[in-house]
Amino acid sequence: MAKNKAFNCPKCGLVSWGDMGYCPECGTPWTIVCGDCGASWRFYWEYAFCPACGSGNLIDITVARQKRMEEKEKGKLGYAGIRKGGVDV
Ligand SMILES: [Zn+2]
Ligand SMILES: [Zn+2]
Repeated sequence: MAKNKAFNCPKCGLVSWGDMGYCPECGTPWTIVCGDCGASWRFYWEYAFCPACGSGNLIDITVARQKRMEEKEKGKLGYAGIRKGGVDV
């Protein structure tokens, strides 16, 4: 078993070694999401590129959530959301 690396919460500075998805102190999500394929992982792994598709378009899950909310408001979310890369299969 690989030992988890210690890291600080980017918002409140809480030190953690766990596999938690959110900071128990301030509720900040500790997840990075690939803006292209939607894969996610803990931010402290510090990947520069998506391990699933190689994209460098990485976003914070908070941003991803905001984006989703905005799209929902605009009514863009729906069957268009399941299409990958905008290409019809
Ligand atoms: Zn925190
Ligand atoms: Zn990806």
